[in-house]
Amino acid sequence: MSDIFLGADLGGSHIAVAAVNRQGDIVDKVEDPLTRAEDQDEIIRRIIHCFQKMRRKRQLRGKLNPQVGIGVNGVTDMERGIVVFSPNLKGQWRNVPLKKNLEAALRIPVAVANDVRAFTLAESRFGAGRGATNMVGIAIGTGIGGGLIIDGKLHTGLDTRGAELGHVIIDYNGPRCGCGSYGCVEAMAAAPAITGMAIGRIRQSAGSTLMYEFAEGDLNRVSPEVVARAAAAGDLAALEIMNKVGMYIGVAIASLLAALCPERVVIGGGVARAGEVLFDPIRRTLKKWVHTAPLRKIDVVPAELGTDAGVIGAAVWAMDHAER
Ligand SMILES: [Zn+2]
Repeated sequence: MSDIFLGADLGGSHIAVAAVNRQGDIVDKVEDPLTRAEDQDEIIRRIIHCFQKMRRKRQLRGKLNPQVGIGVNGVTDMERGIVVFSPNLKGQWRNVPLKKNLEAALRIPVAVANDVRAFTLAESRFGAGRGATNMVGIAIGTGIGGGLIIDGKLHTGLDTRGAELGHVIIDYNGPRCGCGSYGCVEAMAAAPAITGMAIGRIRQSAGSTLMYEFAEGDLNRVSPEVVARAAAAGDLAALEIMNKVGMYIGVAIASLLAALCPERVVIGGGVARAGEVLFDPIRRTLKKWVHTAPLRKIDVVPAELGTDAGVIGAAVWAMDHAER
């Protein structure tokens, strides 16, 4: 019985490794906040340590499948297991052969995925995407990531570089994006853009918006969460920002619906925790801009698995590899 899979999630400030069963339940988990891990070699050592710690647990002994998975924040070659580039991880993450390094240390097969592809796999198999044959996954946080399930399978595209949905262009006159392009939805609707809009509005309003109050008068504490709270409390400036963000994301989704016509769009990530103040303008935007896809039959829903989606998705990626 080796029906439990280890899945790891490597983010900018933390690593988690969970033992996940075939029903998608987490049966055990270890985490490392990566404090004082300043370069990629140290971070890789910590990943190895977390995996080893889990593999040594008595209650998991004999139940673990040797295949493990890891989801990484950054551009990832999922076929070869190479982290091509990751601006959010500490150190120099350019063409790091993560699969090779981990396999050499752990002596077990390791499958590497991009973290939002892992999120999409998890939501599709065990979360808000259950039962959908075609699904779009979007995670909105510091950046915007994506994943696509097409005909029930994760779509990776040429060189596994597909589904970078944060770089769907919504304004060709728009601001420069971190990827080098202009007007990507990530450049206009991810956390830094939202915070920037909020700081601008606070400065204009001479402190009369609730956003200023919720940030305790400190512009460094302005965040998408502050904007969402103020919007939910009826603050007009905050509502205007959330409407704009929802419209940007909605326009990106409208293009995806035209191209793919999925039956479900699952939206997660920290920014999506705003709830209805974000989902309402997204849905209104879709009504205005979607005319070919049968919008009535397409559900746009919040993710269900929360921050666990990453580890669960990495374990699903391992399960899929074990069965190849
Ligand atoms: Zn971009």
